[in-house]
Amino acid sequence: MLVDVHCHLTDEAIKANLAKVVEDAKRSGVAIIVTSGLGYEDCLKALEVSDYKTIFPSLGIMPYKLDGYEDVFSLIEKSAKKIVAIGEVGLDFHVNVRPDKELQRKVFKEFIELSLNLDLPLIVHSRSAGKYALEMLVECGAKNVIMHAFDGSASHSLIGFEKGYFFSIPPSVVRSTQKQKLVNKVPLENILLESDAPALSPVPGTVNTPSNVRISAEVVSRIKGISLEKVEEITMENAMRILKIKV
Ligand SMILES: [Zn+2]
Repeated sequence: MLVDVHCHLTDEAIKANLAKVVEDAKRSGVAIIVTSGLGYEDCLKALEVSDYKTIFPSLGIMPYKLDGYEDVFSLIEKSAKKIVAIGEVGLDFHVNVRPDKELQRKVFKEFIELSLNLDLPLIVHSRSAGKYALEMLVECGAKNVIMHAFDGSASHSLIGFEKGYFFSIPPSVVRSTQKQKLVNKVPLENILLESDAPALSPVPGTVNTPSNVRISAEVVSRIKGISLEKVEEITMENAMRILKIKV
């Protein structure tokens, strides 16, 4: 069994075919899917599509689109018992991204503190800001962390996995030497699998789906030189532990 710890089932590219997408995922062994809301409206949809058998919600907001983050904040507080994580939240220092870094840091810090108060794990977006996000998390004492689609250098991942943070690997690992280096560096005990569907497809320009988590698992198995079964077993245990999902 596989777990997709991060994707966006409420995205227009997926939602229209949701039943088929979930069916395909099951057929390829993906038993649990965490869908992450982005912003208030999308967070409501994430709660709505969750069936708490296969689909579980996490609530967050993109760091480059922080308007209304206060509403997301209170929705998380209100829905704390129903959600498995806060996220994605984080930092995005990609060129030309707004709002400014100071506001991003301020909001990220608030979400880190919220995760500690509510004892919920964080799913962290850190585009072009991997090292900075990890340093902030450590500084703020974050405990349960999933660095999603980490695009920083593999050597910086050490800051995180030494603290027990997880790194979730998307299907684009099949075509990204940066992600392959990351898999090589991070211990299996700190690895999770994600699709980030509809983004980060194994084939550029196509719509990604949770069923492709199997591709992430296959690449991890190849790079680590261990069986696919072992990758499934360990990443499943890791996911259930951090997300506190019982099946
Ligand atoms: Zn995402």
